[in-house]
Amino acid sequence: MNRRAIVAANWKMNGSLALVNSMVSELNNVTLNENVEVVVCPSFPYLAAFSIASSNVNLPTAFSLGAQNLSEHAKGAFTGEVSTSMLQEFGVNYVIVGHSERRSIYKETSTLVAQKIKAALAAGLQPILCIGESEDERVAEQTNVVLAAQLQPVIDEIGIEKFADVVVAYEPVWAIGTGKTASPEMAQTTHQFIREFIAKIDESVAVKVPLLYGGSVNATNCEELFAQADIDGGLIGGASLKAEEFKIICSAAKG
Ligand code: PEP
Repeated sequence: MNRRAIVAANWKMNGSLALVNSMVSELNNVTLNENVEVVVCPSFPYLAAFSIASSNVNLPTAFSLGAQNLSEHAKGAFTGEVSTSMLQEFGVNYVIVGHSERRSIYKETSTLVAQKIKAALAAGLQPILCIGESEDERVAEQTNVVLAAQLQPVIDEIGIEKFADVVVAYEPVWAIGTGKTASPEMAQTTHQFIREFIAKIDESVAVKVPLLYGGSVNATNCEELFAQADIDGGLIGGASLKAEEFKIICSAAKG
């Protein structure tokens, strides 16, 4: 089966209005393989600008807008939070949930991550669920245990049928922003574990879910990573801020 592939840009707390405008015009002339979607996730203040700039240049529908976080609540007294309906008003289709920086710095638990995934799906937003082990956990051979413990609460919260609408990004924490990438073989072995974990609950869901690799993906290593059977694209941090490099990564993805 040809799964859709996704290349998602996580700008984190970087970027500017100037980057929004230059990236939109650069992306307008990138060549994508069939079944590939590109999602750009800037900080909240830039979502509106990105949405307007992309409609001004008629960016093809293969390009979507994503947010980096959302509130699990619909509205109310939650200072500093952003709801699903607010994101939708600005043309957002995707939302990153449970990035390791949110789990470690902002102490988001897997229970909260599961609630956010539920809120995103209920509103029709496609969540990109980030999971991944720390270096100590990999050295202690706990990778699969950690990944299972991050996946199961989400499946328990939303049910396996709805999990078909989730995109999973496997991001080993030790590879994020460090320049240390998992080897293509190591990434494939872990992606295969994730797919088999889902398949043990529902095989038809497992074959549909796009599994993205994230962690120091760049223009040099993307080709080999994306050639792996269970890697359906990537979640790109640092390299997504450089239009030329990001375009190479987008073109390397295969659906
Ligand atoms: C990320 O922040 O999700 C990420 C993968 O970052 P980088 O590509 O810079 O490692």
